[in-house]
Amino acid sequence: MPEKPFWETKTLDQMDAVEWESLCDGCGLCCLIRFEDEVTGVIFPTRVACRLLDQHLCTCKDYANRKTYVPDCIKLTPGNIEALEWMPRSCAYRRLHEGRALPSWHPLVTGDPNSVHAAGVSVRDRTVSETALDDPDDALDFLAPDLDADRSDG
Ligand code: SF4
Ligand code: SF4
Repeated sequence: MPEKPFWETKTLDQMDAVEWESLCDGCGLCCLIRFEDEVTGVIFPTRVACRLLDQHLCTCKDYANRKTYVPDCIKLTPGNIEALEWMPRSCAYRRLHEGRALPSWHPLVTGDPNSVHAAGVSVRDRTVSETALDDPDDALDFLAPDLDADRSDG
């Protein structure tokens, strides 16, 4: 019988740094500018991407030094996922935290880093950069509640 993969046998707390990083599916959904509705507290994504997001690769252009350029970029940890309610429902960290499995299109499952893009879950070529806006508030013109929908597969 084949051994179960680490994401089925370890808790998020038990994973080493390499395993933890490999959980990221590369969707880029957490790198979108978001707004909070002052009345309801609901947080909506926009199609405006962080200045450091490579809009095609959906990766951070300077992950190691990102805090220098984007001080409010949040470092995800096993301890803060619970509080980050705006994290996409498809996000592997959120799914595992909630006791769900990785989706069939996850690169760890398929062995193909492009499977997240082929499944239409990522933001590949679907964003504008915040650097293209004249005013940060112009991001409100790009509200994208559709990107908040559960685009995972179960
Ligand atoms: S939403 Fe989750 S899986 Fe997608 S890029 Fe962000 S951390 Fe990675
Ligand atoms: S700094 Fe990098 S990891 Fe952080 S939100 Fe921007 S693109 Fe994403």
